[in-house]
Amino acid sequence: MNASAIHDIFVIGGGINGCGIARDAAGRGFSVFLAEMDDLASGTSSGSTKLIHGGLRYLEFYEFRLVREALMEREVLWRNAPHIIWPLRFVLPYFRGGSRPAWLLRLGLFLYDHIGGRKLLPATRTLDMHTDPAGKPLKPLFSKAFEYSDCWVNDARMVTLNARDAADRGAIIRTRTKVLSARREGDHWRLQIEDRLARKTENVSARLLVNAAGPWVDHILNDTIGESTGRNVRLVQGSHIVIARKFDDPRAYFFQNKDGRIIFAIPYEEDFTLIGTTDRDYEGDPHLAKISESEVDYLCAAASDYFVEPVKRDDIVWTYSAVRPLYDDGASKAQEATRDYVLKAEGGDGRAPLINVFGGKITTYRRLSETMVDKIEGFLGKRGQPWTAEAPLPGGDFPVTGFDDQVAALRRAYPFIAARIARRLVRLYGTRAKTILGSAASLADLGCCFGADLYEAEVRYLAENEWALTAEDMLWRRTKRGLHFSKDETEALDAFLRELGGRHSVAAE
Ligand SMILES: Cc1cc2nc3c(=O)[nH]c(=O)nc-3n(C[C@H](O)[C@H](O)[C@H](O)COP(=O)(O)OP(=O)(O)OC[C@H]3O[C@@H](n4cnc5c(N)ncnc54)[C@H](O)[C@@H]3O)c2cc1C
Repeated sequence: MNASAIHDIFVIGGGINGCGIARDAAGRGFSVFLAEMDDLASGTSSGSTKLIHGGLRYLEFYEFRLVREALMEREVLWRNAPHIIWPLRFVLPYFRGGSRPAWLLRLGLFLYDHIGGRKLLPATRTLDMHTDPAGKPLKPLFSKAFEYSDCWVNDARMVTLNARDAADRGAIIRTRTKVLSARREGDHWRLQIEDRLARKTENVSARLLVNAAGPWVDHILNDTIGESTGRNVRLVQGSHIVIARKFDDPRAYFFQNKDGRIIFAIPYEEDFTLIGTTDRDYEGDPHLAKISESEVDYLCAAASDYFVEPVKRDDIVWTYSAVRPLYDDGASKAQEATRDYVLKAEGGDGRAPLINVFGGKITTYRRLSETMVDKIEGFLGKRGQPWTAEAPLPGGDFPVTGFDDQVAALRRAYPFIAARIARRLVRLYGTRAKTILGSAASLADLGCCFGADLYEAEVRYLAENEWALTAEDMLWRRTKRGLHFSKDETEALDAFLRELGGRHSVAAE
């Protein structure tokens, strides 16, 4: 597809929603052009708590539609991406006189188990915290806990895999490409876009515009399109801290704080524990969101209320922050604002259509995309049936419970790689791990090692197939090797990537 043609759909934003919409639309036969001003998933979509969850907490705000849809998505997404998504059990300790009575938690978990089409995920059970290993790292505050199921997702990779699949189905995906302006010219849109690396601008035309700019959605409406619509989303920052592994148990903890908020403590990247999150209203450029001193204090203090060993500032090895673009429903507290999504369309009848995405969760991105493309078909005509519920994401074409078999098969095919490397590669790339290893017969055949088992073969794969241009793209979004990389190693990787030549032609574009 050439960039100067009139495309059916132009998507602003390469987060989970933009990439999910591009994939669904391309698969139904639309021509799609997506522009992301930075790296894929560089906005909110790499800064989540990484749960594919119904959102037990949202039941308190009577968000039954959202919770049901999200619960139903858990197994759909897991089945389609069993490399980057896996089941996780959550331990929710409680005590008599706690902020939520046991009957309320039991009722919530009963709904959780029964309204969401659960087939493979195990049901809730009650734990005796005096005897269950889950009680071991905790202070002796709790005699009981509920243990329930949700799923874990590698959020940034889910974005890239959607972009990859969209491109494989014909979509044009441009990263480091900012939409400077979008104007209606009768029944189509004319957009001015800027390649931020080459510093070149270009005009692109499309019949329909999707504004999936996440926390920038209002900026696009008010400034880029220039149709002042006021405020549609409320920007709420959430931060996480990562510390060295705090407990050996493979389960995650769900703690209810004294202030009514909740935090999770989740096993992370084998050697770490992820703790979050916070909720505070945010103003400014969402890319600049950074954890504040008070958020660090809050998370350390909240976790220390529960763990025998306190969580101290010095324990923190990494933090990240992101901004939720929550649909502005007028809720007074950030934590109470709806997590549901709203798609608002305007135009048609001779005026080029625009559809805006307000709000949403990683968990519901596929349903959001499906609903969006149904709406698009309302404007541009029907092209195909919804198809993504049964379609694996790249590398996810193996049985839902077949992860260990994939690792074993990879080790049989490449006996020179250590078990930890095989596990990591299958977790990130699924069946496509074989593409990275290719015809290698020894570690030396994978090229130079930049650090922490990241070899040249993987770096080249990411550059050629996944739009990764910088060390940051590779170390913090396509992989989390950044947790193990030294400053010198990072610089050496950046130097290598510069030599590779800046923007690489990503296959099938
Ligand atoms: C702290 C936190 C925890 C969360 N935890 C969870 C969770 O556990 N589970 C869950 O399901 N959801 C969770 N969420 C919600 C989820 O992360 C978001 O709803 C989702 O990532 C939003 O995706 P998006 O594509 O709409 O936005 P984004 O990912 O922000 O994507 C928008 C993109 O648009 C680009 N853009 C903006 N302007 C332009 C322009 N002019 N030109 C080109 N590109 C542009 C930006 O660079 C950005 O990459 C969490 C959110 C936060 C903040």
